[in-house]
Amino acid sequence: MKHLILKKGREKAVLRRHPWIFSGAVQQVEGQPTSGETVGIYGSYGQFLAWGAYSPDSQIRVRIWSWDETEIIESTFFQENIQNVIRLRDTWIDQSQTTAYRLIHAESDRLPGLIVDRYNDTLVMQILSAGMERWREEIIDILVETLQPTCIYERSDVAVRKLEGLPKRTDVVWGTLPEQPFIITENGLRFKVDVLSGQKTGFYLDQRDNRRFCRWIAKGKSVLNCFAYTGGFTVDALAGGAASVLSIDSSEEALSMAKENVALNDLPLENCDWIVGDVFEELRTLRDRAEGYDLIILDPPKFAPTASQASQAARGYKDINLYGFKLLKPGGILMTFSCSGGIDAGFFQKIVADAALDAGVEAQIVHRLTQAPDHPTHLAFPEGTYLKGLVVRKMGN
Ligand code: SAH
Repeated sequence: MKHLILKKGREKAVLRRHPWIFSGAVQQVEGQPTSGETVGIYGSYGQFLAWGAYSPDSQIRVRIWSWDETEIIESTFFQENIQNVIRLRDTWIDQSQTTAYRLIHAESDRLPGLIVDRYNDTLVMQILSAGMERWREEIIDILVETLQPTCIYERSDVAVRKLEGLPKRTDVVWGTLPEQPFIITENGLRFKVDVLSGQKTGFYLDQRDNRRFCRWIAKGKSVLNCFAYTGGFTVDALAGGAASVLSIDSSEEALSMAKENVALNDLPLENCDWIVGDVFEELRTLRDRAEGYDLIILDPPKFAPTASQASQAARGYKDINLYGFKLLKPGGILMTFSCSGGIDAGFFQKIVADAALDAGVEAQIVHRLTQAPDHPTHLAFPEGTYLKGLVVRKMGN
């Protein structure tokens, strides 16, 4: 049987139920497993530890399927796991208010390498690992059988696939794709989404409840929404009664859809301003013009996908937060985010603290935010928490 044996002392992470085995932990590989093939994993004394998928090209050499020696990794294993995950998910989403959410969140749902997002009756699937790639056909069948979607669109177009030796793939793999863009509902508000060309799988579903938080606090406020994309925070702020919203994004296409989203919800376009531009530059320009805002949202893209890029990324985060603090009116609120896996919550808080210090302002954290509950973190996989948000108030009057 194909299997691998770990170096002495490297069993610990597996026993703590972390789903990854790094190449450096492997002592010996037996039987020449191919990409994605199921292997048994044994400790240095020959004791069984787990079943996992082998990935010869990846630093993450194995992703674990199961710690149960009697488990047989076949179609029914995935069927049971997928159905279980979906059942648990449904209790967290009020489907009368929200029609777009994450159904399967990879490692944290014990389905390593698989992401499935639902947009109305369309599923967008992403396969990120060699192991999951091997079960692709079965996964599609299970999703069809369990959810009866009108369409499954595969968007396996992310860079991490390269690390697994997998080519990019985008295609309709089941049914017919509805005309793009289409309209989804999120916490009662409507948004146009394009699952073919939009970012991520089309929409930043992980920010859903943070946008609602923004709606709660926006009444009467002048708002600056940086990295606005298709206007998620813009629409929520207006729905909450914001007096004005200035939205900035480098993508003209995204901002034009943002305008459409404001109109779609019958919100006042006349209270909106838009800048297609680079946030780093535009914040300086606004500062030079001595502008001031009651509420500023900073939701940049991932500056540091991995820990090795953390210090470079830290400069980027510090820069925008520094200008954010300068542009806040006294008593104003900064909603500041990092979705970088390479920067943990403690480090992010320190960057924001440094930014306040350099801006010469006193500020206090009034709330902490994270990804929405359809993006859970398995306790054995702390890497699953990637979105950190701080709600910070500038003190003074
Ligand atoms: N807040 C959004 C998601 C933001 S995603 C929401 O709730 O939906 C990050 C956005 O930043 C993307 O739309 C991308 O186009 C934009 N972006 C990336 N780098 C930028 C830069 N330097 N200046 C302005 N926008 C940028």
